Amino acid sequence: MKSQTPQHASYDIVIIGGAMMGSSAAWFLSDDKDFDGRVLVVERDQTYKNASTTHTNSCMRQQFSGELNVRISQFAADFVKNLRRYMGNDDRVPELSIRSFGYMYLADNDAFADVLRENQKVQLACGAATQLMTPEQIIAAYPFYNVDDIVLGSINLVDEGFWDGTAVFDWWRKSARERGVEYVENEVVEVTKNTAGTRVESVTLKSGEVIACGQVLNASGPRAARTARMVGIDVPVEPRKRFSWVFAAEKPLDRDLPLTIDPSGVHVRENGGGTYQCGGHSDIDPAVEYDDFAMDHDIWESHIWPVLATRIPQFEAIKVQSEWAGHYAYNTFDHNAIMGPHMEIENFFFLNGFSGHGLQQSPAMGRGTAEIMVHGAYKSLDMSLFHYDRIPEGRKIIEKAII
Ligand SMILES: Cc1cc2nc3c(=O)[nH]c(=O)nc-3n(C[C@H](O)[C@H](O)[C@H](O)COP(=O)(O)OP(=O)(O)OC[C@H]3O[C@@H](n4cnc5c(N)ncnc54)[C@H](O)[C@@H]3O)c2cc1C
Repeated sequence: MKSQTPQHASYDIVIIGGAMMGSSAAWFLSDDKDFDGRVLVVERDQTYKNASTTHTNSCMRQQFSGELNVRISQFAADFVKNLRRYMGNDDRVPELSIRSFGYMYLADNDAFADVLRENQKVQLACGAATQLMTPEQIIAAYPFYNVDDIVLGSINLVDEGFWDGTAVFDWWRKSARERGVEYVENEVVEVTKNTAGTRVESVTLKSGEVIACGQVLNASGPRAARTARMVGIDVPVEPRKRFSWVFAAEKPLDRDLPLTIDPSGVHVRENGGGTYQCGGHSDIDPAVEYDDFAMDHDIWESHIWPVLATRIPQFEAIKVQSEWAGHYAYNTFDHNAIMGPHMEIENFFFLNGFSGHGLQQSPAMGRGTAEIMVHGAYKSLDMSLFHYDRIPEGRKIIEKAII
């Protein structure tokens, strides 16, 4: 990588990490009429080849257990369907839609069925269209499933399914740049505080430049803990490996396959043209090295394919077309987003810990982050539930619907 030097020695806001979260925050900052500060996005690899954003499944759902998470996804749906309007009716911006095949959660025991019932109440109260289905109803609507062990299913066919995350990511960067946000390919290697330890004063880049800053945003994905440690803070986020496969079926299904969450944890969805995308992970699921993207080739034969072929017997005959390993930025504390300012180092902000749901959370997270950084308060959705202070205080906000 040839490091790029920022144009200025000082910025109002420096964002560390320029993928989905960093770019969402950058764009919403550029969209705030009350803010005309200088923004620098430092991204260590502008190919984004190892970013979670590149390895994503790019789906959204309303089926969360926490109300705020449901509302966050509802904003994502609104934002995606109205991208051009949000981007000032710029006719270069594509009109996007959501391929709403739904997420089909399958419960094989009464305890998990009860969780689905509880979750549905939360979702319905937020206006989501979640339906519970008996095994007979599941088979009538989707005859390809084997439901012998299933006691309940849960699905929502409105604003839940695949969306074009790449298009949104591309337009956030393009539009933010056009409005004056500066992106450089470089790496933040040090963050310096004032002598009292109450404010961040500058970031040091790998190429040696020291850049003064008014505020800093940690949008470093699976490297969030590394960035936070530069300020002397612990954030409970670690890289966990998640494997993906795209396969073709010899006999494709006769209707869309919902993003099916098998009780084993394996998930699979429609990918178009007789192909399907599937994801899973090993039972042993430790934190991995930041640069470890080695594929586990055994897991397909020994675990994933048998699960698929049992749940959908038509998937006995399938052929893998591509496969990859990606990293979740996994919040080991309570599986929820970590955002907002630090309590003592008040100009250091978090945007971390999104596990497998950060792509859909990015519009609301970027908007909320811009609001709290510029105005010191939320103007749309109140995100303070997710603030960092809950971690040292030991207040867990458990999200039960984690994939
Ligand atoms: C296999 C898989 C499937 C997923 N499926 C879905 C899904 O269907 N729906 C959904 O909503 N979400 C999904 N996710 C989650 C979603 O993709 C992520 O939550 C989201 O992309 C996180 O974006 P981010 O910007 O926080 O992190 P990243 O995309 O990882 O970006 C962080 C960036 O920070 C940069 N960086 C780190 N440290 C520094 C530094 N010191 N200096 C400069 N740059 C730095 C990195 O280079 C990187 O580009 C999935 C994730 C994976 C891995």
